[in-house]
Amino acid sequence: MFNKLIVALMPLAPRFIIKMVSKRYIAGEDTAAAMAACKRLKAQGFLTTVDILGESVTTDGQAREARDSYLELINIVTENQIEKNISLKPTALGLALSADLAFDYISAIVKKAHESGVFIRIDMENSPYTDKTLEFYERLSGQYPGLGTVIQAYMHRSMDDVTKIAARGGNLRICKGIYKESPSIAYQNAEEIRRNYLKLVREMLVQGAYVGIATHDQYLIDETVKLIAELKISPDKYEFQALLGVPIDKRLEALVAAGHKVRIYVPFGSEWYAYSSRRLKENPDVAGYVLKNIFVKN
Ligand SMILES: Cc1cc2nc3c(=O)[nH]c(=O)nc-3n(C[C@H](O)[C@H](O)[C@H](O)COP(=O)(O)OP(=O)(O)OC[C@H]3O[C@@H](n4cnc5c(N)ncnc54)[C@H](O)[C@@H]3O)c2cc1C
Repeated sequence: MFNKLIVALMPLAPRFIIKMVSKRYIAGEDTAAAMAACKRLKAQGFLTTVDILGESVTTDGQAREARDSYLELINIVTENQIEKNISLKPTALGLALSADLAFDYISAIVKKAHESGVFIRIDMENSPYTDKTLEFYERLSGQYPGLGTVIQAYMHRSMDDVTKIAARGGNLRICKGIYKESPSIAYQNAEEIRRNYLKLVREMLVQGAYVGIATHDQYLIDETVKLIAELKISPDKYEFQALLGVPIDKRLEALVAAGHKVRIYVPFGSEWYAYSSRRLKENPDVAGYVLKNIFVKN
C-alpha cells in the first residue's frame, strides 16, 4: 500500500530526486561510465554483463539506432578488455513493432558478437513477448553458441520451457520475473515462486545445462548453494547474478570467496529516467527497496 502510494506520487517528484535514487542502480549515461563500473567490479572479483537502457521502441528508426548502439558496444567491450558479455531487451530492438524487424536486428547483433567472442543474453520481458523471445533464442542458438536467454520462475509454463531448453544444453538465466502478470498464467504467491525457482534451477543443473542464478533472495541463494554441493556441480556450469546497486555486496563477496562465479548486471544509458520510472510502476515493491536503500546503507 505504502509502495503504491510512492509510485502514485512519482510524477510529482522532481527529476533530480529520481536521478539520485536511480544512480545506485545505473552505471551512468554513457559507455565510458559503464566501462568504468565494469572495471571496478572486475577488480573486486565480479564478472559483468552490460545492458543499454531502453525498452519498447515505437519506430523502426529507434530500433535501428538501438541495433547500432549494440553493434558499437560489442567493439567497446572488446577494446576495454572487460568481460565480453552483453544483455539486451527484444522490445528495445523493435519486437513490439514487428517480430521480423526485431529478429533481423537481434540476428545482426548476435552474428557480430559471435565473430568478436562476445556472449549475448536476450532478456525476458512481459508475457506478450515470451513466445517470440524463445523462438528467436531457438533459431539463433543453433548457429551461435554464445547465446542465452531468460526464464521467469513466476510463469506457469516455465518448467516446460526449461525442460526443452535444458535437454538441448541451452544457456538460461533463471529469475523470479519483474513484470505484473495475470494469475491465469503466473504464480502470485512468493513461496510458490520460490519453489518453482528451485525446481527450474535443479532441472538445469541435473541436465548439465549452464544456468545463471539471478536472485537477491538470500533463501534462494542458500538453497542453490546447497543444491550445487549436493549434485557436485562444477563451477563452469553455473554462475550467480545480481543487479548493480542491490545492497547484498557482502553475500556476493562471500560467494566469490567460496569459489562461485558472480556476475553483476550493469545497465547504462540516457534513458535512466524512463527505466527507473517504469521499473517502479511495474513493480511498486521496488519503491520500498529504493526507499530502504536511501536510509539503510550497508
Ligand atoms: C541479473 C538479473 C537479471 C534479471 N533479468 C530479468 C529479466 O530478464 N526478466 C525479468 O522479468 N526479470 C529479470 N530480473 C528481475 C527478477 O525477475 C526479479 O524481479 C528481481 O531480481 C527481484 O527478485 P529476487 O529474486 O531478487 O527476490 P525478491 O524477493 O524480490 O528480493 C529479495 C531481496 O532482495 C532485495 N532486492 C530485490 N530487488 C531489489 C532492487 N531492485 N533494489 C534493492 N533491493 C532489491 C530486497 O531486499 C528483497 O527483500 C533480473 C534480476 C537479476 C538479478
